[in-house]
Amino acid sequence: MGSAPSGSDPGARGRLRLPVVAGPALAVPADFAPPAPRTDGPTLDAQHRPLRYLRVSVTDRCNFACTYCVPDDGIAHQARADLLSFEEIERVVAVFAALGVERVRLTGGEPTVRAHVVDLVARLAPRVRELVMTTNGHRLPELAGPLVAAGLRGVNVSLDTLDAERFARLTSGGDLATVIAGIDAARAAGLEVKLNAVALAGENDDELAALCRFAWERGVTLRFIEHMPLSSGALYQATRELSAATIRAALTAAFGPLVPADRDRRAVGPSRYWALAADPRREVGIISAMTEHFCDDCNRVRLTADGALHACLGHDDAISLRDLLRQGGSDDDVRRAIAYALAGKRPGHEFQRTGAGAPGKHMIAIGG
Ligand code: SAM
Ligand code: SF4
Repeated sequence: MGSAPSGSDPGARGRLRLPVVAGPALAVPADFAPPAPRTDGPTLDAQHRPLRYLRVSVTDRCNFACTYCVPDDGIAHQARADLLSFEEIERVVAVFAALGVERVRLTGGEPTVRAHVVDLVARLAPRVRELVMTTNGHRLPELAGPLVAAGLRGVNVSLDTLDAERFARLTSGGDLATVIAGIDAARAAGLEVKLNAVALAGENDDELAALCRFAWERGVTLRFIEHMPLSSGALYQATRELSAATIRAALTAAFGPLVPADRDRRAVGPSRYWALAADPRREVGIISAMTEHFCDDCNRVRLTADGALHACLGHDDAISLRDLLRQGGSDDDVRRAIAYALAGKRPGHEFQRTGAGAPGKHMIAIGG
């Protein structure tokens, strides 16, 4: 049921031809002996970091084509038959949950363009402690209620600008008013809402304070994200870099001094949170993979829509859980493959601030 993505790509720019994932496909060697399962906590990776968080891309398609995410030529989409079915996703998620993963995030592409995504949420929600989604918000006006009823806890909605023309240009045709209506529908439905804004010099650096005010007025959490070079660095321009320090300086100029926020101590995600010294209820997060990277605290792995397990966003090596499942692999085989991926997980990404060291994979395929 419901294994095919739906909808055309009204926002796609140009033709679709680059490969989705470049890089080596790992295979589990016959003599690989996985460590004994831990009984006193989550599974650890090669650097002794606990695995708590799985990001699952459910489609490599999107109804937008954000200029920082999708190459001008687009990507070569996966054939429908190559995508994991809902049954396969559920099985993999159950194995991860048994290994100690607490949070699963559905992403994409745009997860809400996958047909019957509400059914997928209903299948997965009982399997994990916390099921959440990252979305561009365009379909939330009609989907927020059904998603909550199916068991979704929260959404991170991408919102880079409050200017409708700029929004349409950055997203290649997205409608700002619909996305804001989606954010409000998610709040009204009872979802925990966070906003993600990719911070880009010369694009939205004049809106940092306005985006904060927008979030605070609605009682939702905003996080600024530093632009990361994927797609072999094709979309990365060092001149557009807006560092975490620059973002903090701009916010300090607008609102006065910032102090580390209380919530930082219990954060599961990559964001570091700051609060206004003058009003600690006003918080803002910064996800700074480039200038203040957080690899030492990495607690996540990623599964693409076609079932490739990536231990690190910054490296292309991946292992196909789909092939394993379709060759009749057992849950134990899946556990062994996950253990192998974790045993090879690198200490960190190797992005340079020039764009060098960028993986070949595309953000739209891996899902952020
Ligand atoms: N379509 C959904 C959305 O836009 O929220 C989910 C997938 S999108 C790839 C996930 C997140 O990655 C979004 O918040 C998006 O802004 C962010 N993103 C995309 N390309 C990025 C890049 N090159 N660097 C940093 N963040 C990026
Ligand atoms: Fe689509 Fe999200 Fe990428 Fe924008 S950031 S093109 S909405 S996948």
